Amino acid sequence: MSDHGPKRKPRPSEPDQARQSLPGARAEPDPAGRAARNRFEAEGVPESVRGGPVAGSLQPQPSVGRDELERWLADELCLARFRDYCPNGLQVAGAETIRRIVTGVTASRALLEQAAARGADAVLVHHGWFWKNDDPRIVGMLHARLKLALRHDLNLFAYHLPLDAHPVWGNNAQLARVLGLDPEMAQGKPGEAEVPVTLDADGLLWTGRAPGLGTVGDFVRQVEQRLGRAALWVGEVEAPLGKVVWCTGGAQGYMNQAIEAGASVYLTGEASEYNTHLARETGVAFVAAGHHATERYGVQALGQAVAERFGVAVEFIDIDNPV
Ligand SMILES: [Zn+2]
Repeated sequence: MSDHGPKRKPRPSEPDQARQSLPGARAEPDPAGRAARNRFEAEGVPESVRGGPVAGSLQPQPSVGRDELERWLADELCLARFRDYCPNGLQVAGAETIRRIVTGVTASRALLEQAAARGADAVLVHHGWFWKNDDPRIVGMLHARLKLALRHDLNLFAYHLPLDAHPVWGNNAQLARVLGLDPEMAQGKPGEAEVPVTLDADGLLWTGRAPGLGTVGDFVRQVEQRLGRAALWVGEVEAPLGKVVWCTGGAQGYMNQAIEAGASVYLTGEASEYNTHLARETGVAFVAAGHHATERYGVQALGQAVAERFGVAVEFIDIDNPV
C-alpha cells in the first residue's frame, strides 16, 4: 500500500529513480536460451534450424494472450472490490502475446530497462503509474518511462491495493509468511476457507501473533534479520510482545487503529514524525521496516501464480530502494 495516512498525498514515494544508476538489481542468470543461441551462432547453425525462442528445445515457449492474462488477474485479485487512487490492471498495452514477464515493486525506469534487456513482453508491478494527483502530462520522468515501454512493446500491469489485500498472494499475507507471523483468521462463508481478520474494510490492516517471540526487542531483531535491513523503530526493548498489527508500505497513518485494537507493536513500511510520539505516549511500539522492503513479496507470489497458471517465464527483479 501507499501512503494511507490521512495527512499524506496519495502516491508512492519513488526514490528508486535517484538510485537507478547504482548496482541495485540482483545478478540474474543468463535468460533461457541466450547462452544456447550464442552457442548456435558460434557453431554456425543456420537460423532456420535453431528452433523456437527456447533454443535447444523443439517445444514452443508457453505464452498467454495479453487480454486473457488481464482478465485472469482482474478476477483473481477481485479488482471490482476496490476503490483505489490509480488504475489497477493493464496500464500500458504492449505485445498481444506474452511469453516472458518481469516483476518488480515499482515500474521505475531501471526496472523497465532490465525488462527490455531480458526481452520481456510484460512488466508486472505493485506501484504502477497514473496516480490520482499526478501531473497528467507525458513529460519528464513519465515520458522517459513510457518511451521505453512503447519502444520495447512492453505491457505494464499494475496492482496496488488489490495486491496489498489478497489473502494469499498479497503483500500483507506474504510479509507475515516471511516474518513468521501468525495472522488471526476467521471462518469465511460456509464451506469456504478461513479469511484473515483485518481492522479495515479493504483488508489492509492485519492482526496476529509472532509465535516464539517474547519481547518487542525480539520482534525487531527478527524483522531486521528476515528483511535483511535495519528497521527504524520506537519502543521498549524489554516490553512484552502481544498482539502484532501490520500493514505494508506507507501506512503509518493507520497507527491509531492499531493502538485502538490493542496492539503491542505496529509494523509498517514508512514513518512520520508523529509515530514517535504515539509510540512514546501510548507504549505501543512502532516499527518502520521500509516501504520497498515490506512490499517485495506480494508481486513475487503473484508472479509465481501466473507462471504456474500459464507456464510463461516470470522473473522478479529487485531494484534496491532504501526507503
Ligand atoms: Zn506501496
